[in-house]
Amino acid sequence: MASSKHGLSQGLLRAGYLLPSSASERTLANARVRFSADGILSIQEDADTSGANPERTLIMSPLANAHDHGRGLRTLDYGALDTAVEAWVPATYALPPVDPYLVAASAFARMVRSGIGSTVHCHLSNDIQSLLREARAVRRAADDVGIRVAFVVPLRDGTRQGYSAATSALAGLRPADADAIRAQLLKPSAPVTEQLALVEQIARECEGPLFQVQYGPVGLEWCSDALIEGIANASRASGRRVHMHFLESRYQREWADAAFARSPVGHLHSLGLLGERLTLAHGTWLRRDECEMLAASARSCPSTRVPTCACVRALRPCRTCTVPA
Ligand SMILES: [Zn+2]
Repeated sequence: MASSKHGLSQGLLRAGYLLPSSASERTLANARVRFSADGILSIQEDADTSGANPERTLIMSPLANAHDHGRGLRTLDYGALDTAVEAWVPATYALPPVDPYLVAASAFARMVRSGIGSTVHCHLSNDIQSLLREARAVRRAADDVGIRVAFVVPLRDGTRQGYSAATSALAGLRPADADAIRAQLLKPSAPVTEQLALVEQIARECEGPLFQVQYGPVGLEWCSDALIEGIANASRASGRRVHMHFLESRYQREWADAAFARSPVGHLHSLGLLGERLTLAHGTWLRRDECEMLAASARSCPSTRVPTCACVRALRPCRTCTVPA
């Protein structure tokens, strides 16, 4: 009998129903799935349903989690209350030092228990110096849990202080408060070339059949044009994919409209980032014309042009203009 690290062995699964794939037009009844440690050996449907599984069970492909931060420690646990993204994101910077393996492993285990077989893991890190070590730990956690992971390396070189210029908003604060904010939010960033080189180093050490590394520009407001352009060039050269937060809140929308002469999507286009390797998370405040531009930019590879929409508001325009959500 075959066996594997995860204890899988050759055997037989039975279910009242089986959905062969998301494109299937019908389910199989009284399905039998033979499997080994290497995968599925056969799928059969019993014509005689008299002995059908009395339980109303269904076998289907595992779900994919298109955007997650692997928060094994929930934000509420360290005081980051669920609120507007502008207040919530800085609160998450207070994440205490925790074992990256344990955090990732518990998050992945929860996903697997709920039927998820693959995830885009937007890694959270406050220190570029520890990123490689953390990536190794996440890889080990993914292996141990048995989940397919796209590991998104966080890349930023802009201010973490909201949408304003780095220092203007501090002028009205007490000096002690301003100093505390500078220490927490205005740390200097590593040069673009160093950050891009780190992505490649993480890929060399950690990538495997079930673990893929992607560029992760954190968001327009946190990335310079030079960084986004550098990512676009590197992605074009390596074929590596890019995953980015985009237009999650009304204030981001208003800031982006004021900051860029073209639309924010047009700005990404001018920097060379639009294309089949880019996926955008949230897209809650995309306009119809922007959805259409995103859809058109990746016609050659429909499965990867997905701006992952976080709410019903975003799903409406996407459904009507063919951008998959
Ligand atoms: Zn996110």
